[in-house]
Amino acid sequence: QLLASQSIPTPHTPHVINTVRLPDASRKKILVTGGAGFVGSHLVDRLMADGHEVVVLDNFFTGRKANVEHWLHHPNFSLVRHDVTLPILLEVDQIYHLACPASPPHYQYNPVKTIKTSTMGTINMLGLAKRVKARILLASTSEIYGDPTVHPQPESYWGNVNTIGVRACYDEGKRVAETMMYAYKSQNNVEIRVARIFNTFGPRMHPNDGRVVSNFIIQSLQNKDITIYGDGTYTRSFQYVDDLVNGLIKLMNGNYDMPVNIGNPDEYTINDFATKIRDMCGSKSEIVYLPKVADDPTQRKADITTAKREIDWEPTVTVDEGLKKTIEYFKGEVEAAGEIIPT
Ligand code: NAD
Ligand code: UDP
Repeated sequence: QLLASQSIPTPHTPHVINTVRLPDASRKKILVTGGAGFVGSHLVDRLMADGHEVVVLDNFFTGRKANVEHWLHHPNFSLVRHDVTLPILLEVDQIYHLACPASPPHYQYNPVKTIKTSTMGTINMLGLAKRVKARILLASTSEIYGDPTVHPQPESYWGNVNTIGVRACYDEGKRVAETMMYAYKSQNNVEIRVARIFNTFGPRMHPNDGRVVSNFIIQSLQNKDITIYGDGTYTRSFQYVDDLVNGLIKLMNGNYDMPVNIGNPDEYTINDFATKIRDMCGSKSEIVYLPKVADDPTQRKADITTAKREIDWEPTVTVDEGLKKTIEYFKGEVEAAGEIIPT
């Protein structure tokens, strides 16, 4: 595995999380695939705190046991090392299907495996949902819009993806995963939910994730060069992970079953974002420009009209508040590791 041989600091659990004791009738058994990853582990924290029984399936490709270790001895929690490309028999009420590497260096490391994870993995989870009549939510992505020609992106936009480019294993994998969700809905009456997640950041992002937020923070904290790919005019909109978790839970438990964008429309150029992070870290880092990466989307901003209307959701954490918490987290990681050289 890519990450097994790397020396990675253990992410600390910032605080003790209290759990509610639910009556048997309202306690659900919930499967979270990819639950040991960045987003998954925050979702697990919320579902456990709300008093549900949670089963995590993860092959630990990019996830870490340390992200969920604070639940290991809780009677409501189970952790199963399992690859979603293989079938599994379980009895559950709801499935949050998150298993899939999400950062470009990780999903491009083994593109065939990324495709298998999105296709065979989603088929297996849909088969499970069909067998046990569970509701299933797919963690889809704004990447299904590719390099968008419509801005901001509403769910009605069909996208602009290079089918044979370096990002295709991820983008097309998620696109066919969405297609499979709707095929199982129409053919087998499976209850489905589809979240199109936009760039998300927060504590427990993998230090070697290679994504812009973790890279810029880790570089700034160590006064190392901040690496901008291309000329820095590309844009992204960034949401804090707690907002995403709220959105996923609202979508799962609401009545709307068409795709829903979950993202914070607060849009930045990569140049502005680099300066902002450097300033917030009080850093002396230089900003350096490296060659642009292939097929990098030039602009991205969530249109969240549907989320507001259908699931009464919008982000509540500002990018600045979220960055403060994330910077604090990475300070601890850098201190624990001595030095981190991001991907
Ligand atoms: P992550 O890499 O931290 O988590 C993914 C998890 O899935 C990891 O724990 C990994 O070990 C596990 N996994 C990967 N392949 C697997 C397999 N074959 N079988 C079992 N487990 C497997 O990524 P994340 O940022 O937490 O993303 C979670 C989900 O959200 C992904 O599906 C991703 O596509 C989606 N998403 C994330 C973002 C974001 O900005 N973080 C944006 C859009 C979509
Ligand atoms: N990026 C960058 N320097 C880095 C990491 C990323 O300039 O060290 C750029 C990247 O080329 C892209 C943007 O930041 O234009 C967001 O990249 P990320 O990998 O975080 O997410 P995605 O491209 O999947 O939206």
